Order: sequence, then structure tokens, then C-alpha cells
Amino acid sequence: MVKSIRGAAALTGLLVLSWPLVGAAQTPAPPSAQQPAATADTAPLPKVVLFATGGTISNRAGGRLTVEELIASVPNLTRYVQPEAVQFANTASSSMTLDQWLDLSRQINARFTADQDLAGVVVTSGTDTLEELAYFLHLTVRDERPVVVVGSMRNPSTLGYEGAANLEDAFRAAGDPMSRGMGTVVVLNDEINSAREVTKTDALSLDTFQSGRYGVLGVVDSAGVAYYRRTVRRHSAKSEFDVDAIKALPRVDVVYTYQGATGDVIQAVVDAGAKGVVIATAGAGATSGTQGQGTAYAIGKQVFVVTTTRAGQGRIAAGGGGRGGNTPTYRIAGDDLTPIKARILLMLAIATTTDGSQIQRMFREY
Ligand code: GLU
Repeated sequence: MVKSIRGAAALTGLLVLSWPLVGAAQTPAPPSAQQPAATADTAPLPKVVLFATGGTISNRAGGRLTVEELIASVPNLTRYVQPEAVQFANTASSSMTLDQWLDLSRQINARFTADQDLAGVVVTSGTDTLEELAYFLHLTVRDERPVVVVGSMRNPSTLGYEGAANLEDAFRAAGDPMSRGMGTVVVLNDEINSAREVTKTDALSLDTFQSGRYGVLGVVDSAGVAYYRRTVRRHSAKSEFDVDAIKALPRVDVVYTYQGATGDVIQAVVDAGAKGVVIATAGAGATSGTQGQGTAYAIGKQVFVVTTTRAGQGRIAAGGGGRGGNTPTYRIAGDDLTPIKARILLMLAIATTTDGSQIQRMFREY
């Protein structure tokens, strides 16, 4: 549920604020907030909105940090940006619902449309399913301006909490003109990764977010933000996925391949109402046991079956086997997306079209 933006009265503890509070009209802004726009060459500082959703970055023992407390935890943030705050949720990432994802994307899109002076958006998230939310926003926030998703591996009550440092990096990346056109990026551990490519690779370590062979897009360090490459796949401003036209995301399940796996699992998710099934196959498309019967059952019920690999990297290419032309088909090649990201694209694809050749095109383009 979206909560209203909190005023100054809600602030407790932590550091003294020196940033303009949205919706706190009666509260006189401190001098630094009245004149936030001065840099060496007097250009205004970039305006960046933080949508806080929760996660370890705010999961303080004795009570979660509010969005205002998160901003206040970054010393001297107003040297870099004019921050604004929205408390969207305050929960673990895996507790967010798909309806909340749609709502968050709609709110970010609306904010960009309403405020042409806005430089970018930061979203805090728990790290467990962060890459899923990030890829969803990458596909559905239709603007050139960046969305930066950030979290932390240590909570605010733990020695070595890195959340404030990550948040500062995220604000700097969101305010940097070089981030335009990058879509949604993930910033932790001083690194900028593309939402499309990044995966949480370690349950605990601080350098857990990795993009495999593709590597980082860039870095944030004491000298600033630096990019070294960009992803060429379609996203953000060029996306066709319109969250205002999607009332709810369809059910899509992920089924793993392992030795002797049974197809009745696939049949069960189809019977439970799945409109799509992503198979995390072995290698470049191998299923095992009776899974072939399961996928045949799904296709017989006009349920889309997307082939991805459980290997972590590598492409399942489209082509051959009656997939061309305009003939609707239910067998889709998942390209190089991880199974969980293929699920997100498939949910958006099915919400947009029932034409299998169009869905296969989407997997080629995004
Ligand atoms: N690591 C958890 C997550 O991904 C955060 C735990 C919490 O905030 O309760 O959301």
C-alpha cells in the first residue's frame, strides 16, 4: 500500500536533516535546503526521488528505518543531489506483491511525466529478489531518466552496515546525466550493473551482485560516476510494456530440470492456472525424466513454455522448428535471460499479446 509522504514531525533520531521535505510546507527549510542549487558553476543540483520499499537496508533492530531516516543517514547528501522521499512500503523484498510492483512502476512513470526537472529515481529494495524488481522496472518505466535500485547486505544494526554508502552511490548515479538511457541499474558495493544482467550470486557477501561474463556497466567512487559500456537490448523509454494498461500480471511459474524430473509438476502448475511456464533446463535446453510430457501437456492447453538454462549463463536461441511466420506457437526460446528474469518478461508479454511469434520477438529484443 502506498503511504503518504511523511512530514518533518515524523522524523526521529539519526542525523540532522539538511534536505527539503516533500509535503512539509509549514516547516521552514534549513538554509542548505533553501539554496540547494549551488555547485562550482551554479548549475542546480539534480533532483532525485527515493521510493523506499524496505529490505535489509532499512531493517534496523527495534524498528525499520523510514525513508526520511534513510536519507538522513547519508552525511552531506545535499552536496550531490536534492533528495525527495516517498515511503512506498517497508517490507522484505520477497513480501512485495506483483500488484505492488505494478503500482510502483505506475507511480515512478507518473512522477517522471509530472516533473520534467526530475533527474532520476532511486528505489530501495531487499536484496533477495532485488534483481527481479529491477528487471521489471527496466521493462516498464518508460523514460530515458534512470531508475537506480539499491539495497544492502548488512542491516543498520550490524557492524559494517554499508547501506548509507550504497545509498549515496545510488543517489549520485541517479543524478548523473551519464545514467540517462541506461534503464534501471543496480548499485551496490560501488558498482553499477544492468538490471537485465545482474544476479545475486552469494547469500551473504557484500560483492554478491554480479553480471557474469558481461561485467559491470560502471562504478561509483570518490571521483564520481563512470560508465564503461551500455546494454543494447530494448528497455525503458523504448519499451512497449504499458503498466497503465495492465491490470494484473498473469501467473507464470518456473520449473527446474534435474535428473529424473517428473512432468506432473508442469501439469500441476498448468492445472493451477499458469498462463506460462519457464523451464530452467539443463545445458542448452535438455529436460529430464518425463518433463517432455509435461511441456506437451502445457502446450496442448495453449500455455506458453519458455526454455532457459539453469547453467547461469549462455543463450537459448530462437529459430527452427516451426517458430517463424505468424503462426501462433507456444514454445519460446528464452535467449540469455535467467529463468526468473524470463518469467518477468513472459508475464509482461502475455499481459500484452497472445501471439507466440510476438512473444518470441520480445525475447529477441528485450
Ligand atoms: N534480505 C531481505 C530481503 O531481500 C530483507 C529482510 C527484511 O527486510 O526483512 O528483503
